Amino acid sequence: MIKKHDKSKLAILGGEPVRQNPWPVWPCADVNTERNLIDVLHSGRWTISGPYTGKKPYERRFAEAFAEFHGVHHCVPTANGSSALTIALEALNVKNGTEVLVPGLTWVACASSVTGIGAVPVLVDIEPDTLCMSINEAERAISRYTSAIMLVHLFCAAAQIDAFVALSKKTGIPLIEDCSQAHGATWKGRRVGTFGEVGVFSMQQTKVLTSGEGGAVITRDPDLYDRLQQLRADGRRYVGSNLKAGQMELEEIGAIQGRNYCMSEFQAAILLDRLKHLDAQNTLREENANHLRSMLQEIGGIKPLYRHPEVDKLTHYHFCVRLDLEEFGNNSIELISRTLTSELGILVEPVDSPLNNNILYNPQHSPRTPVSKDIKIKYDPKRFNLPVAEKARRECLTIPHRVLMGGKKDVADIAEAFEKIKRNHQYLARLTQ
Ligand SMILES: *Cc1c(COP(=O)(O)O)cnc(C)c1O
Repeated sequence: MIKKHDKSKLAILGGEPVRQNPWPVWPCADVNTERNLIDVLHSGRWTISGPYTGKKPYERRFAEAFAEFHGVHHCVPTANGSSALTIALEALNVKNGTEVLVPGLTWVACASSVTGIGAVPVLVDIEPDTLCMSINEAERAISRYTSAIMLVHLFCAAAQIDAFVALSKKTGIPLIEDCSQAHGATWKGRRVGTFGEVGVFSMQQTKVLTSGEGGAVITRDPDLYDRLQQLRADGRRYVGSNLKAGQMELEEIGAIQGRNYCMSEFQAAILLDRLKHLDAQNTLREENANHLRSMLQEIGGIKPLYRHPEVDKLTHYHFCVRLDLEEFGNNSIELISRTLTSELGILVEPVDSPLNNNILYNPQHSPRTPVSKDIKIKYDPKRFNLPVAEKARRECLTIPHRVLMGGKKDVADIAEAFEKIKRNHQYLARLTQ
């Protein structure tokens, strides 16, 4: 006789997991994505820095489509999100030695792109309810050296956009919106990324619009656009119209020192197709997330991130919640995340470590860092106090967005896993002894 598994026993302790079926696949593609890729493969044109073949390159077509999607005129695609941040900072003339406000809780690239151009990241604490940069802390952190504010919309929340736009206007300090986790979200009817001087995106594999690696900067400003183009293609920019086949499509300008951060035609071919699905996929994730939130509310002890009333369309990059740890037996967020991972068969993780104590953020140990002693002190991440970000690290966990790409039955499994852990938390003590 087959021994029946005990469904009430936690999977991490050898019981049967809540989730048996696979989750929806991410990244995903269809025959149209495939057709674009094959088209590039046999086109004789794999990069924009090659001769014109009589057809508009995919990179340019994607740039136009992505700009139009946002209701702005200009988009410069890049190799990845980090290079998009880099050229955004350089286009805004953020100078060596000046300061850039960066949220204390975000992906390391936000800070390392700043140190990469020789500027100093000033780590700013976050709001407890959205995990995005705190407007009050940002105001306090501004000094006469501040040259940009990097606002990040994190996980499944939007920052207080209006307040940051007002702060930027009042101080004259440009605003960079990093939307690498918020493609397609809207605030009072307008896409995020269009409120700052520039909007920056990553299209790395985990993001909701992806070509494996990829990035983009959008802007309304034609002068910034000109600089952004040259910064990403070794000082070159598109010639414009009336091209003949065989002629180089990029002309050499050299008004500003650029580097090669170009997106390949393969990346652009994927993105041009996948962009068509972004709104529908965001809507699907939002519907499922709303359903999940109401189920989690019934369980209790699980708090979703705050949604500002100005947000009319929310993007879910990771579904993020804060736990009342007492209701989970005061077990650590790491252990609860691992327990959820084994119930659900998908990686559930605490939020990243705040940047004042993050293994990936080591500006002092970079050969790029100037040797002067006061710069070394300025670059020490430990000089920043980030109590709200540190508390979020202890209490919040995140689940990748693909769990939201099925139906109600799928998200019911997530609620069931939380409920099972809450009911059985006393057995987790065994694992910590
Ligand atoms: C992913 C991400 C980046 C970096 O993008 P890459 O494409 O990995 O270089 C920057 N900022 C945020 C908020 C991100 O989530």
